[in-house]
Amino acid sequence: MKIILLGSPGVGKGTYASFIKEKYKIPHISTGDLFREAMKNETELGKKAKEYYDAGKLVPDDLTIQILGERIKRPDCEKGFMLDGFPRTIAQAEALEKMLGNMEISGMPKTDKFSSIAKIDVAINFYASDKVIMQRLGGRRICKNCGSIFHLVNRIPKKPGICDECGGELYQRADEVPEIIKKRLNTYHEQTKPLEDYYKNKGILKEIRAETDMNAPTFKEDILDKIDEALDQFK
Ligand code: AMP
Repeated sequence: MKIILLGSPGVGKGTYASFIKEKYKIPHISTGDLFREAMKNETELGKKAKEYYDAGKLVPDDLTIQILGERIKRPDCEKGFMLDGFPRTIAQAEALEKMLGNMEISGMPKTDKFSSIAKIDVAINFYASDKVIMQRLGGRRICKNCGSIFHLVNRIPKKPGICDECGGELYQRADEVPEIIKKRLNTYHEQTKPLEDYYKNKGILKEIRAETDMNAPTFKEDILDKIDEALDQFK
């Protein structure tokens, strides 16, 4: 099963991805995570990506396509994968089709190709208003030590600035301060939204409204059950 998760920054794709990974047993590939890892390890690519990343801008397509290409060639992707945060431009979507067309997947010989987009089963578009996104992202705090996520409104740490799980220090991601979130949302509307039509025209787009917070009692029926409905036929 090959899935693309679409939706603005902060719409909750990471949370939905954990659910899908657990239930459908496919790797979760987030280009944001790949960049964070590359920056942490100070690789050449990480160094080049950093200035764009810190400014809340899209990293140029060539670097992004390279980092994603290296990841989906790994053996765990043979039976399928879920892309989170990629593609974010039409050029990236086209590059993905090319990559898949050139890869041997699930033992299918390279010559036996059908329309390469047929290899992506579904693109799920999660949507929420910019107001909801600003509140969600602006309040997020992450543990430097164990990565647990807290929120100043929805999951308040018992001691301000300290992780409930391990006592580590909480921090705010550089790209989650309000000014940068606004920039990221603008970038999303300008460059990434056209992908909705792109996949709609291919007949593989599913839409899910994602304004319910993950701690709300209706989270499962509002979002997780809808994801199941969208994916069940591809199991
Ligand atoms: P995310 O964690 O998906 O919100 O991504 C964080 C940052 O990584 C973005 O603001 C971009 O700077 C960069 N990034 C992640 N995925 C992409 C992509 N597909 N194209 C360009 N830049 C990306």
